[in-house]
Amino acid sequence: MTDTAHRVVLAARPEGRATTDHLRHESFDLPEPGPGEVLLRTIWLSLDPYMRGRMSDAKSYATPVAIDETMTGQTVGEVIASNHDGFAPGDIATGMTGWTDRAVMKGDELRKLDPTRAPLQTALGILGMPGMTAWTGLTRILEAKKGQTIVISAATGAVGSVAGQLAHARGLRVVGVAGGPEKCAHATGNLGYDTCIDHHAHADGEAMARAIGEAAPNGVDLYFENVGGKTLAGVVPNMNDHGRIAICGMVAWYAGENLEDAISGPTIWRNLLTRKLRAEGFIIFDHWDRFPTFLDEVAPMVADGTITYRESVTDGLENAPKAFVGMLAGDNFGKTLVRVGPDP
Ligand code: NDP
Repeated sequence: MTDTAHRVVLAARPEGRATTDHLRHESFDLPEPGPGEVLLRTIWLSLDPYMRGRMSDAKSYATPVAIDETMTGQTVGEVIASNHDGFAPGDIATGMTGWTDRAVMKGDELRKLDPTRAPLQTALGILGMPGMTAWTGLTRILEAKKGQTIVISAATGAVGSVAGQLAHARGLRVVGVAGGPEKCAHATGNLGYDTCIDHHAHADGEAMARAIGEAAPNGVDLYFENVGGKTLAGVVPNMNDHGRIAICGMVAWYAGENLEDAISGPTIWRNLLTRKLRAEGFIIFDHWDRFPTFLDEVAPMVADGTITYRESVTDGLENAPKAFVGMLAGDNFGKTLVRVGPDP
């Protein structure tokens, strides 16, 4: 017997900026769970910038979503039926079910959550992949130390907001770059940033370089790179000798826009050489073995309020495409989430 559920599929591949026309909300026939499988009702869907990459068929570290295929994504859901020994109806679990209101998944591909530990959606944000990314970039890639000066771009977003608070807690001077005065006020007022630069107020890499120079009078030791564009062009000339750059993302360029803001290859190469910089890209899935260590360190900081978080919540799976497109343009304030169904 089949049942009807809803999902969002990739309707067309964007050239440049993604729009809601590239995604389609539709119904589909949901199969019954087979042996070892679990039927889930989605409560929370995470929206993340990496999904823009999956909409393209350019060669990458992950397989692209096919046309008419359900958009990839992590969710938190409630178990409705289970043929897996590890799950029973009423359990809460997280997994890569995609943009759908119900899903049949292999139980082995799900992680059970303790709903008494923290609000369920934190498993998609501060206590999930984005928080883990911030912690990994700061501790494993940058090896941040007390007294250093760090610049963090997309400073108030899902990753940046955690990186900023962790850097502050470790005693660094923390300089944020964010879009608009409201986000900057949040960065300095609530997230522990010592200062914050509004990138909308600085036209190009040279203007950004001047602003960053003023914000970091002793130079920049560490850069947590989330955006690329004119922010990267502004940071590099301010780097101190032996500085480090953790290349986490480059959301300013995901749509093929702002390419004119790029720092030239020879300039970045010369700076890497003469300032003896180390730049290292990282993909969080390679670091997943450390997830329990991350939780042990960060979950108590969230529980005691040392680290706070903010969320941009949209209701209804059918509204996910608009929320996703808005997030890529900076409309979100904190972790971007869709409430697909009621949270028990
Ligand atoms: P955010 O919550 O930070 O949302 C994206 C933000 O990017 C927007 O809010 C906006 O912030 C900023 N932005 C968009 N366009 C521009 C632009 N042209 N110039 C400057 N900033 C821009 O997303 P996440 O925290 O989830 O992700 C942050 C970065 O981390 C992304 O690049 C993402 O791909 C990367 N990432 C990488 C991982 C990895 O394994 N390497 C894992 C997870 C995330 P504002 O309004 O402040 O400009």
